[in-house]
Amino acid sequence: MKKLQNQIEYDINKLNYYFNNNNQTFFEDYRETAEILIDIASDNGIYINYPKRLNEELKNEDTNLRNIQKEMFENNFNNMKSFNNSISKLYNKINIENNYYYNKYQVKMLQKDTIKIVSKFYQNFDKDISDYFEDLITSNKVFFTKHILDYLTGLTIEAIEDIKAYIFVTKKYTIVDAITLAHETIHAYLSEQLKNMTINEKNQYITNNIYEVYPFFIELVFLNYLQKNNFNIKDINKYITIYNYILSDNLYSLNTIINNKDFDLNNEIDVESFNENQGYSYGGLFAYHFYNQYHNDKDEAKDNIYNFMTDAKDYDLNHLINNYGLNEKELSKCKILKKTIKLFDR
Ligand SMILES: [Zn+2]
Repeated sequence: MKKLQNQIEYDINKLNYYFNNNNQTFFEDYRETAEILIDIASDNGIYINYPKRLNEELKNEDTNLRNIQKEMFENNFNNMKSFNNSISKLYNKINIENNYYYNKYQVKMLQKDTIKIVSKFYQNFDKDISDYFEDLITSNKVFFTKHILDYLTGLTIEAIEDIKAYIFVTKKYTIVDAITLAHETIHAYLSEQLKNMTINEKNQYITNNIYEVYPFFIELVFLNYLQKNNFNIKDINKYITIYNYILSDNLYSLNTIINNKDFDLNNEIDVESFNENQGYSYGGLFAYHFYNQYHNDKDEAKDNIYNFMTDAKDYDLNHLINNYGLNEKELSKCKILKKTIKLFDR
């Protein structure tokens, strides 16, 4: 506990230092990181003063963020519209048990089992990410918690300056914990790679449909790894069903939002609901495409998805689709999605 206290105090002091030196480029991250670190600290009986200037500075940043989102939205809107033809049909095909959220998973996973299985997976997947993962664990950056997150399965606080990322996983004691940890590890790893982005680039990266692509992709690769290593098949199938359900549900809502006649580009609520939705819908679609590539050529797919993610600062959907082996026609007809869903059936 003493070690944790020292680490949090050290990181908060560094954040204060950066903030007081007026470096705006990491402001959003600073705010989020500071808030959560202060929460963790108080959960552990450590009292830390909330930095004074935080609230007033935030207003400017919020306006800036909204402008970026609006611009991004205008750029993406028409692309997205053309993807939506077959989504409703696909949505109707995916069956889901009514009470899927409450069904119990069969295998009980303790924290050490969770870390072990993810560690083995990354050793198998990629040396760089595996080294990064081991470092996260040994430097106390991963928290399994029930307190901070009520409705999220996991959360990553992005790395900034010389402060490494933090990962939070909501404890469920099932395979979901491991999948969440694998997912958040990719957010953390990429935040380390993209640390030098400007705040505008970072806001685009975080709020557009790019952000969830690699983490969703890794979920699919991890599930495939679990299948091959004879993890409980009922638990895997249950997770995949839920995954497909959530993806198609989000695609369906996005379709509804976009094709609503009253949809207004100048209406903040409309634009916001679009932005909130696209990461979990199109992000998932792209993830399936890369997973399909991975099935044919692992190294090529890994290069493609890494470049796709880190190219986000040149964010333009057409550019991204045309440069990393994605095919707009197949995307719009959900062809790859259907094909990849079949890869999991056995
Ligand atoms: Zn995520």
